[in-house]
Amino acid sequence: MSGIRLDKVFKRFGTTEVIKGIDLEIEDGEFIVLVGPSGCGKSTLLNLVAGLETLSSGTIRIGDRVVNDIPPRDRDIAMVFQSYALYPTKTVRDNITFGMVTRRVPRAEQDAAVDEVSSLLHIDKLLERKPGQLSGGQRQRVAMGRALVRKPDVFLFDEPLSNLDAKLRIEMRTEIKKLHQRLGKTIVYVTHDQIEAMTLATRIAVMDNGHIRQFGDPETIYEHPVDLFVAGFMGSPP
Ligand code: ADP
Ligand code: MG
Repeated sequence: MSGIRLDKVFKRFGTTEVIKGIDLEIEDGEFIVLVGPSGCGKSTLLNLVAGLETLSSGTIRIGDRVVNDIPPRDRDIAMVFQSYALYPTKTVRDNITFGMVTRRVPRAEQDAAVDEVSSLLHIDKLLERKPGQLSGGQRQRVAMGRALVRKPDVFLFDEPLSNLDAKLRIEMRTEIKKLHQRLGKTIVYVTHDQIEAMTLATRIAVMDNGHIRQFGDPETIYEHPVDLFVAGFMGSPP
């Protein structure tokens, strides 16, 4: 079981306070979308959950563990970035299994895992190619495959579709939604795209300037925004 809970989370870079006291409780299996304008602190918040940044103060729990002092690799999470972050000189197969190789997972188990995720993500014909021989959408599928083979309880996505063209974005959005329904894992997904938020989320957290302005299900956020900022950002009817 892996919900996520943030209590009074603050993050400063030098003297600049970027996350200003966030409390957030995410249930196991939810699909939470963090939305908000560029620079409001979405990536920073996700990086704090991932352990890629350290808290200035507050507590983060994943499942029943306080993870403040637990390094990223021991947090039972996998992260997918906008930039894919694939190894350019390795094949798709080796990109997907990289983490398993370093953990000395037996070869047969690696092959089975690659078979499973590559058919799930429709990249089974691309396994011997290098990232440079793939389209943007295919690269993002490989990045997702690499996250999936780790079988974490929690997935963190930071604007995974923003480098894709509109058609692919919609296609991948549908795929990600299906994956969530199928796997039932907890997902925290960052985007600045309101439509993406509305279609994917079980609950949306609208962020502004280091705060969460509103946290609720998509219909409530859209139809009953708590203030003009949320209304304006979500394009709610007047
Ligand atoms: P978002 O993902 O919502 O666009 P970020 O979390 O990337 O926003 O950034 C929030 C703010 O924190 C921005 O003003 C950004 O410049 C600042 N920031 C992010 N990372 C660092 C860092 N490593 N050092 C200093 N400032 C940072
Ligand atoms: Mg960001």
